[in-house]
Amino acid sequence: MARIVVLGAGIGGVPMAYEMKESVGNEHEVLVISDSPTFHFVPSNPWVPPKWRTPEELKIELAPVFEKKGITFIQKAATLVDPENNQIQLDDGSAVDYDYLVIATGPRLAFDEVEGLGPEGHTTSVCHVDHAALAADDWEKFMENPGPIIVGAVQGASCFGPAYEYLMILEAELRKRKVRDQVPMTFVTSEPYIGHLGLGGVGDTKGLMESALRDKTIKWVRNVHEIT
Ligand SMILES: Cc1cc2nc3c(=O)[nH]c(=O)nc-3n(C[C@H](O)[C@H](O)[C@H](O)COP(=O)(O)OP(=O)(O)OC[C@H]3O[C@@H](n4cnc5c(N)ncnc54)[C@H](O)[C@@H]3O)c2cc1C
Repeated sequence: MARIVVLGAGIGGVPMAYEMKESVGNEHEVLVISDSPTFHFVPSNPWVPPKWRTPEELKIELAPVFEKKGITFIQKAATLVDPENNQIQLDDGSAVDYDYLVIATGPRLAFDEVEGLGPEGHTTSVCHVDHAALAADDWEKFMENPGPIIVGAVQGASCFGPAYEYLMILEAELRKRKVRDQVPMTFVTSEPYIGHLGLGGVGDTKGLMESALRDKTIKWVRNVHEIT
């Protein structure tokens, strides 16, 4: 019997483990290692700050679902992959041997690349559900005394869609709360042009996004120094 280890239980790791188990059945062991006890549906994070969803609604306890599927689950952080010995070391000092390894640990959020960026700096984030929960607290404080808002994506970002999505969600919420007129909105992006999305555009996203932002009187800039 071989042991197939999936490292990480996010959008990549969980379907991987399900599919793998379905394919190998009980002939081989499928074992998932994740540092979090819960799966998070990341694309819904932008709904958390305006309270369209609670953080709990985006989380699923992994242990019971994996048990039901016959998948072994270890809730610990991996500290080292040792391919020479086919072994993963865990943060409690223990180790797990593997025959096959799938690494699905997702992106590392590089807030440290831009000084002051991120929830430990001066901006909020919707990249992780815990950041979105903090952003929800800040949003409530903001609503007590609304003022200008900047939403955006910085240099080095690879996925720009969520920034536009979050911008439009906040714009819709401000209108719903009838305070949109008190909130000048600016979108700042490192894309070469609006609607590029990190993909060179998708169809006419340049034209579509430019007219959507103009319609909603959202200013856009490519450099924070252009914000006045
Ligand atoms: C706000 C937002 C909206 C998005 N919207 C969309 C969308 O609409 N459509 C779309 O296709 N994509 C969307 N994306 C992108 C998509 O969410 C990501 O591509 C996807 O979550 C990546 O999945 P993943 O499994 O690779 O990583 P993750 O979802 O980050 O999962 C990685 C897992 O590995 C675990 N892990 C990390 N390090 C370790 C370690 N050392 N030891 C053990 N476990 C570890 C983490 O805890 C986590 O459970 C969005 C992203 C964001 C931020």
